[in-house]
Amino acid sequence: ALLLTAASSGGLVAYADSAAESAPEAPKKKVLVLGTGWAGTSFVKNLDCSQYEVKVISPRNYFAFTPLLPSVTSGTVEPRSIVEPIRRMFEKKNKDVTFYEAECFKIDASKKTVHCRSAVGTNLDGNGDFMLDYDYLVVALGATVNTFNTPGVLEHCNFLKEVEDAQKIRESVIDCFEKASLPNISEEEKRKTLHFVVIGGGPTGVEFAAELHDFLVEDLVKLYPAIQKFVKITIIQSGEHILNTFDKRIAAFAEAKFQRDGIEVATGFRVVKVSDDLITTKSKSVGEEVSVPYGMAVWSAGTGTRPVIMDFMQQIGQTNRRALATNEWLRVRECEGVYAIGDCATVSQRKIMDDISMVFKLADKDNSGTLTLKEINDVLEDICIRYPQVELYMKSMHMLDIADLIKGAVGDSHKESMVVDIEEFKKALSHVDSQVKSSPATAQVAAQQGHYLAECFNKMDKCKEHPEGPLRMTGGSGHHFFRPFRYKHFGQFAPLGGEQVAAELPGDWVSMGHSTQWLWYSVYASKQVSWRTRMLVISDWTRRFIFGRDSSR
Ligand code: FAD
Ligand code: MG
Ligand code: MG
Ligand code: MG
Ligand code: MG
Repeated sequence: ALLLTAASSGGLVAYADSAAESAPEAPKKKVLVLGTGWAGTSFVKNLDCSQYEVKVISPRNYFAFTPLLPSVTSGTVEPRSIVEPIRRMFEKKNKDVTFYEAECFKIDASKKTVHCRSAVGTNLDGNGDFMLDYDYLVVALGATVNTFNTPGVLEHCNFLKEVEDAQKIRESVIDCFEKASLPNISEEEKRKTLHFVVIGGGPTGVEFAAELHDFLVEDLVKLYPAIQKFVKITIIQSGEHILNTFDKRIAAFAEAKFQRDGIEVATGFRVVKVSDDLITTKSKSVGEEVSVPYGMAVWSAGTGTRPVIMDFMQQIGQTNRRALATNEWLRVRECEGVYAIGDCATVSQRKIMDDISMVFKLADKDNSGTLTLKEINDVLEDICIRYPQVELYMKSMHMLDIADLIKGAVGDSHKESMVVDIEEFKKALSHVDSQVKSSPATAQVAAQQGHYLAECFNKMDKCKEHPEGPLRMTGGSGHHFFRPFRYKHFGQFAPLGGEQVAAELPGDWVSMGHSTQWLWYSVYASKQVSWRTRMLVISDWTRRFIFGRDSSR
């Protein structure tokens, strides 16, 4: 033992000597990523992992392409085709990225640690818990379902969030058909068993209903001709219209198509209770309760907060919220080194009225106490970067330039000679903050946030002195300025079944029908995360075209 110590201390000295010649290398900072969904994988994929020691935690060792989950419920696409193993996704980065299949059940920001639990990796004491520390934590845990504490929903409804959920739905649908085919089942019982209810008329509920309808009319009714007349699909929506986050034209198109297809759309009803054979709804206008018998129900009426996020928000004083609040650089407020992206987070955009005096001062380069149009225009770009609501407001009011906005405050004078004082400046911008909008909980947002944050991390060293803030407004080091995250919307699709898709594209473009289905196929094929899953998905679609869907369990 003595010899060993001597040898190793000698080695240490030698190391110290050589380290003194070349600059000693600082240990890499530890980045811990929670979650391998859209946000988490997009972050790791775009991160220069050689700069950091990266660890990734998730209870599932795969990424799931959620937009195709509704297609899995009917067997149009196989579950294997939409998942990609995490270890394969990060194969090229294997040296630099460590993955642990475990669930994080506690984040302790004061100690900079997280507590995790593995479902399989119990040690000799039967304990699967372990702890990890971090310098930077990226929380990308996604959201969970929200039942709004409606009695019976957890026990009796299906959900559509995970791959296993989609598989379970498919099995339940086929179970219902087999059950209704049995000889000892009454007509009334058949009608009940074949009543499929979708609760929630958002994009997921609508797409699922459309998928189910196709599965029924294209495949199942041929195989179960004796019971086809008993089949019914109902969508229950509490709002006035389904697809209410889409353009009105799309909602109307969808409702008309569903009516032709015989899918009942019950709007203005809220589900208040679910038992094993009845769904009780309450009419929002009349207030009357009605119960309907059903065979299978899918609840897709809301997203909720994961318990670990709830607990974390409690710790850092973010109570009564549904998601972690971050600043525009995706950093969790009042919490050093913690970032949050995707469905578990929401960006709270700073209001320009809170900073109005500062903005005025920065713009007033000649300290005259008033702003000329030129002074405002010189900083307008910076203002719009820091407060995107200014641009959104001008667009929504069809204003071409800032002069139009100022005119409202100072009256219709000559544009060129316009001069405003602080009060007029305040008045001009007073309605702008009404345009602050939070980004939707979508894969598009999650992936863009992951990408953006990775770029921040890649440049962190360079930007350390000035990580955030409208620096160009204060003059100088413009190229260190880090733009806040800004979501770019590329449009959204609503598949409606029968080879028809509605699409809302940027610039108020709406496209509906069969041709849009081809756009949908090509976009979804191109968005696949690997050539392997792309091949699988395309061959699933082809197989469905030729042979129909598989109706075995
Ligand atoms: P997720 O993708 O949900 O990822 C969360 C990750 O955290 C998962 O890997 C999960 O396993 C992991 N995790 C969970 N708990 C823990 C824990 N305790 N510890 C560690 N890890 C944990 N969006 C679109 O833009 N277009 C669509 O067409 C579309 N269709 C959809 C269809 C369906 C059926 C569903 C359910 C969603 C759809 N979405 C769509 C929404 C999209 O899937 C989400 O917005 C997106 O998944 C959010 O990404 P995320 O990374 O925040 O969360
Ligand atoms: Mg994620
Ligand atoms: Mg996902
Ligand atoms: Mg979000
Ligand atoms: Mg001035």
